[in-house]
Amino acid sequence: MANRVLIVGAGLTGATLANLLAENGHQVLVIDKRSHLAGNCYDQIREEILVSRYGAHLFHTNNKKVWQYLQQFSDWRPYEHQVLTKINDQTITLPVNINTINQLFGLKLKTAKEMRHFLSKQAIQLDKVESLADYLLTNVGQVIYQKIFYGYSRKQWGIDPGCLDTSLSSRLPIRYNFDNRYFTDQYQALPVGGYSALVKKMLEHKNIEVKLKTDYFKLSKSKLKSFDQIIYTGPIDQYFAYQFGRLEYRSLKFEFSKIEREYYQNNSVINFPDLTVPYTRIIEFKYFDPTSAKETKHTIIAREYPKSQGEPYYPVPRARNGQMLAKYLAEARELEKTGVYFAGRLGTYRYLNMDQAIADAIRLAERIG
Ligand SMILES: Cc1cc2nc3c(=O)[nH]c(=O)nc-3n(C[C@H](O)[C@H](O)[C@H](O)COP(=O)(O)OP(=O)(O)OC[C@H]3O[C@@H](n4cnc5c(N)ncnc54)[C@H](O)[C@@H]3O)c2cc1C
Repeated sequence: MANRVLIVGAGLTGATLANLLAENGHQVLVIDKRSHLAGNCYDQIREEILVSRYGAHLFHTNNKKVWQYLQQFSDWRPYEHQVLTKINDQTITLPVNINTINQLFGLKLKTAKEMRHFLSKQAIQLDKVESLADYLLTNVGQVIYQKIFYGYSRKQWGIDPGCLDTSLSSRLPIRYNFDNRYFTDQYQALPVGGYSALVKKMLEHKNIEVKLKTDYFKLSKSKLKSFDQIIYTGPIDQYFAYQFGRLEYRSLKFEFSKIEREYYQNNSVINFPDLTVPYTRIIEFKYFDPTSAKETKHTIIAREYPKSQGEPYYPVPRARNGQMLAKYLAEARELEKTGVYFAGRLGTYRYLNMDQAIADAIRLAERIG
């Protein structure tokens, strides 16, 4: 049976659900309070260069189903991301691998065995690993922790890494080889023409209507009643009027600059773990867009300054938020019985990579039918 479905949020989660439900014959209205599509993946051409408004987005996945699903909406250009980190006057490679250790300590380690031996001498033994700091100290020891991780994590999250839970450790792998790539997934690529164009294509369907600059919380009750199902991808605590308290988010300020030279730095992303530098990293967009790189004599960079207020970006992984989230999720489960579903990064308060957001959305669309 064809239903009328309201989807709140035109990010990748909302776009995937809209696309699949429209394909299944449902009538879908997608609203977003912003003036543009694509949620946090939004990008646009600025001064001839494709620039991401909410931070660089690198697509990577091992999920073949997601990868194949996306092929219909864009061509993809292979892109393997690399990150450098600046420590005093030295620029070294991340994630930590044999190159990183050799650069940092002036060594010539060659094998995984030598790397393990070196790190085992650095590592600190702890009875319990209860935080991100514990994870790092027990794996790489105090010196590497202080030089590479402490300042960056402190700035990024605004709290001591000793208060952050260990779930973040999966984002900080330690490699026993020379692999400088930031991700090791099977599929790593960028959509040719950008993510905004990709999402636009996902939403081009006779059963989909899109309304931008439309806030869910300003819709009338009678309007809401006209839908059989609602899929909400905004912040879950806001939906419930913060009745159990506000979930913490980390936000970012992006300071964009146009620079009158061909390149500003020697890599797309350089991290700055030094606590005396107020930003965490500098992104140079040209590296993601070889067409503009060839043709422009100027470049655009963004400095990223973490902050606690502003657009909600990263859920803060610590105990108080986990406890609060459990209460909101229990309410959300009850509401599902009435046809209201919570999805996506904000709707489930999880840091989701794009591929995970799409995979979850595909599963939910299959469940709704
Ligand atoms: C700085 C940063 C960098 C990232 N880099 C990567 C990366 O390199 N690789 C990767 O795989 N992932 C990356 N991600 C994650 C990626 O952004 C998410 O996976 C993706 O945005 C999830 O899509 P979503 O639709 O769930 O959420 P969003 O993109 O946040 O979309 C939610 C939408 O809902 C709208 N909305 C909220 N409330 C309302 C309301 N009341 N009414 C109407 N609309 C509303 C919002 O305006 C927004 O457009 C990054 C995230 C951040 C923050």
